[in-house]
Amino acid sequence: MAEETVENAQTYTFQAEIQQLLRILVHSLYTQKEIFLRELISNASDALNRVQFEMLTNADVLDPEAELGIWIAVDKDARTLTITDTGIGMDRDELIDNLGTIAQSGAARFLKRLQEEAPDSARQMTDLIGQFGVGFYSVFMVAERVRVVSRSARPDATAWAWTSDGSTTYTIEPADKTTRGTEITVFLKEDAEEFLRPYRLREVIKTHSDFIPFPIRLDGEIVNQRTAIWRRPAGELSEDDYRAFYNQLTLDFQDPLLHLHIASDAPVQFYSLLYVPSRANRGILSARTDHGLKLYVRKVLIQQHNKDFLPHYLRFVDGVVDSEDLPLNVARESIQATRMIKRIGASIKGKLLGELEHLAETDPARYLEFWREFGVFLKEGIATEPDDVERLAPLLRFHSTLSDGEQPTVSLRDYVGRMADDQNEIYYVLADDLKSAASSPHLDPFKARGLEVLYMIDTVDSFMLLNLREFDGKRLRNVDDAGLELPQREQAEAASDQPALDDDAFEQVRKRFADVLGERVLEVRASQLLTENPVRLATPEGQLDRNVQRVYRLLEREYHVPQRILELNRRHPLIRNLAAWIREEPDAPIINEAIEQLYAGALLVDGLHPNPAEMVSHIHTFIERATRRS
Ligand code: ADP
Ligand code: MG
Repeated sequence: MAEETVENAQTYTFQAEIQQLLRILVHSLYTQKEIFLRELISNASDALNRVQFEMLTNADVLDPEAELGIWIAVDKDARTLTITDTGIGMDRDELIDNLGTIAQSGAARFLKRLQEEAPDSARQMTDLIGQFGVGFYSVFMVAERVRVVSRSARPDATAWAWTSDGSTTYTIEPADKTTRGTEITVFLKEDAEEFLRPYRLREVIKTHSDFIPFPIRLDGEIVNQRTAIWRRPAGELSEDDYRAFYNQLTLDFQDPLLHLHIASDAPVQFYSLLYVPSRANRGILSARTDHGLKLYVRKVLIQQHNKDFLPHYLRFVDGVVDSEDLPLNVARESIQATRMIKRIGASIKGKLLGELEHLAETDPARYLEFWREFGVFLKEGIATEPDDVERLAPLLRFHSTLSDGEQPTVSLRDYVGRMADDQNEIYYVLADDLKSAASSPHLDPFKARGLEVLYMIDTVDSFMLLNLREFDGKRLRNVDDAGLELPQREQAEAASDQPALDDDAFEQVRKRFADVLGERVLEVRASQLLTENPVRLATPEGQLDRNVQRVYRLLEREYHVPQRILELNRRHPLIRNLAAWIREEPDAPIINEAIEQLYAGALLVDGLHPNPAEMVSHIHTFIERATRRS
């Protein structure tokens, strides 16, 4: 790797992706140059966290008494800015690995995103450079040269210097540094002189690094507020404080949808500050690569993405948990830690769901915003966490035969509140989308009787229904059920005043359907419920795998079209026409084609058709027959 050796200095070439990244950073005009300081401070803070962790857990480190902090110094004459920390430091190999030679997949990912984005947002992309694990290189937006002198915290390590002008190479040489940590000297470009002004630096630190938990000193004076915001009393904090912390924590610059601040003393002592973002997909700029809560134990950052507090379906939640009671080695499995994490997790999950219930009651419009983004996560929760079903069910929202407009506004509680006196089940129809649901033949008897039916149109609904069996003591009932017994109503009678086929004629039709469809259906019979549609596929009582079959189809797993009962509407003109064909011209091919079409259509509206596109060629055959002049 080494290209040349001048005295003790060795020169290395940057890996290709990093060279490319550097070219872009050096030559493009970015508006947000100031973020280089955020990145350097964030690296210093990470290094401090790591050494703090080392000291608490085991290792023997250099300078155990040194204050954990970050120092920023300006030299106007030399036009340099120096950022010094007492963190974990780097030895020679680490300098090479971390700052240049090793294939950094982050660099490749970042470049790819940069190329995909429009020029406008590409400019903002630099804002997110830190999330791709290449934040360090942003310093070359403002530097004509950078010198990193570092001494690892390992007692036997020596100090080394890394220097580069951000072109294609960097050099490594031994250095003089007697203390632990890293010192980065930035030789500023002419057009970056603003970063020599203490006023400007203070502003940048306040904006981007105010919550860094270690003191950041500029000219000897601490600039950042440091106090862990989650440890402060809620009464002292404003909405702006919560928002600012969210922005720094997540790099999501939209306002969060809600925050929840918890301080608990018993049964476990902990602080937590949780956020629900306003968008599930935080836009093209979002680079949230992992989820989980930041875990602090006794003010030391132990984990960036702890996934054990909240169930998987709440992975959209961001925030911090901080406890004095947890052991520092939570990452390693320990029974005590697991038990505490469970307790804290149960508590924050309960409070979070409570907060959502409160929002739903007090501000339904805002709750709908939440639902639009995260509703599918809650449905997933019902499907995957049986213990949470009771808590989650009231939070669900649906479209229904009685709701109008774009938004799903109906809760199960609303539904139950509107149920007819003699109704004791909650009816729903499964379909692939709103339009199919609304035109489902299963709705005929419900419309005729003025009974409300919920639309289940999300992919996840089929999974959800496997666990959501009842609400408020009322069973949830699929309207395709063959055993449905609905209260008789006068309007229902009136809606079906068309003449019905007599028994003989109907039997002819029924038999013909049964012959053509064979094994594909369990039975063909007259419907007691259809009024407007000619046919429907009813599911026999006890066919428990109804939703499972749908799920298989959605998962594109091995899927068998389930056998159902085909019900015919003996008053429908289409069925009466078929009866006439069968009587007068029983061999006409159009009869069987029509039966196939009716069956395929019934599968389609129920979201059961294995291959909807295939229907088109059948329809062509059908039209060909129908239009043939004999
Ligand atoms: P990231 O911080 O996301 O890992 P960076 O490009 O910002 O990516 O930094 C690359 C690596 O360089 C860091 O992961 C760390 O190992 C090392 N590093 C950078 N600055 C320091 C520092 N001040 N002290 C110790 N190590 C550092
Ligand atoms: Mg970094």
